[in-house]
Amino acid sequence: MPAKHVAATRFHRTYMPFATLGLRPEIVSAVTAKGYTEPSPIQAKAIPAILEGRDVLGGAQTGTGKTAAFSLPLLQRLSESEFKNKRPRALILAPTRELAAQVHQSILDYGKGVDLHSACFFGGVNINPQISKLRRGLDIIVATPGRLLDLCQRREANLGAIETLVLDEADRMLDMGFIHDIRKILKLLPHDRQNLFFSATYAKDVKKLADSILRNPVEVEVAPRNSTADQIAQEAYSIGQKNKREALSNLIKDGDWKQVLVFTRTKHGANRLAKQLDSDGITAAAIHGNKSQSARERALQDFKTNYIRVLVATDIAARGIDIIDLPHVVNFELPNIPEDYVHRIGRTGRAGKKGKAISLVCSEEEAYLVDIEKVLKREVPLFELSPRGKIGHQVQRIANPKKPKKTAVSRPPRQHPRPDSRHSGGSGKPSSRPSGKSSPRQAGKSSPRPAGRPGPRSADRADGSASAPRSPNRRNRSRPSRPR
Ligand code: AMP
Repeated sequence: MPAKHVAATRFHRTYMPFATLGLRPEIVSAVTAKGYTEPSPIQAKAIPAILEGRDVLGGAQTGTGKTAAFSLPLLQRLSESEFKNKRPRALILAPTRELAAQVHQSILDYGKGVDLHSACFFGGVNINPQISKLRRGLDIIVATPGRLLDLCQRREANLGAIETLVLDEADRMLDMGFIHDIRKILKLLPHDRQNLFFSATYAKDVKKLADSILRNPVEVEVAPRNSTADQIAQEAYSIGQKNKREALSNLIKDGDWKQVLVFTRTKHGANRLAKQLDSDGITAAAIHGNKSQSARERALQDFKTNYIRVLVATDIAARGIDIIDLPHVVNFELPNIPEDYVHRIGRTGRAGKKGKAISLVCSEEEAYLVDIEKVLKREVPLFELSPRGKIGHQVQRIANPKKPKKTAVSRPPRQHPRPDSRHSGGSGKPSSRPSGKSSPRQAGKSSPRPAGRPGPRSADRADGSASAPRSPNRRNRSRPSRPR
């Protein structure tokens, strides 16, 4: 498939200033204003190819600088091509609201010196302002698939003049069940266009989609596929499920961890853990698909500005979280899908910075750790951990640990509500639950779930649980003042 294959490592110095890649001074100065002195490897390889009009297949992990890799040449090409009577000329599809918002912010930052109009569309918010923006005319749309289709079906978005399509984090889009929406959107695009396809992992379905879209692409790979960045130190701690919360509190306090992103498997679990940490004296908030857009944005902002110390997130909500220098990522429960582990820990060690990823593993989860190690092609050392947070000896691993019962942990069918769309819990309403899954009441039992049986991911997306109530002592605790 690919005409050219370029392998490189993340953020190795290339000593090639942005101007030599063919970018115009206005764009170079916007990049310089962001503090970038030289392109990352994916930028050095992808920018000239995109400027030439080539299709690109980017095997890029999070934190490699892929957003600038496609945004900079895209802005340049659009600023040089003809305005199409208010119709958008570039479409960037992203799996989540957070990622879409973040990509759009990059477009705004990098595009300061060029006269282009862009907007970001996702579900869970009022559609009318989005319609008004489309009517005024746009050059670039950044969107999640569900809301974009909605706008197309209302005949408000016309994709007939799209010159460049970007699929960002394509693997996650498929994982979230967007394949049908993507196919529908593809039918609305002109046949002749440039395609830029980015994905951190390449399972069969992702490759099939890439093959069906791309034409003679330049392939740019910045880290071995399905591997994690070298900058991320990974450790796993063996601890019983019911002791995880206490141990985590102690690790955070004793280690004086300042900014910790914690992943839980379910929305309810995220709420509960945030509440418990808060009552342990560790400021925390939860972020997941049942929270309103404004609550998600506030939690993220509070976390970024160190107003809270811990952000407890589910996989989907955390997608696209980009925090420079995020030092710690914790898997409170291991994901049963190894690629999710890669995505999760990719939140740290970004832009060449060091990071630490810690996984709390109960005995039933050891089989997941083995699966993850197979994908990573490396061992993640497992140490004993006491509830007091004391790290002990390395654990002797058993050859083939038993997997928990399939019904409890296997990947759910892709029938969960769209996280970005009109159906999603983002509106704050409880969403429908796939049949046969644990009920909100079950999920809400006050005792911890049996280890290794935290329920399928669909429960995470559709448990309909409300946001965690504020802990009584939360308001009284002194916090740094909230930044304006
Ligand atoms: P991305 O992979 O696009 O999510 O980018 C990861 C992080 O790297 C973001 O915080 C970017 O602002 C940052 N970044 C992107 N390009 C560069 C560069 N050339 N030099 C330094 N940082 C960069």
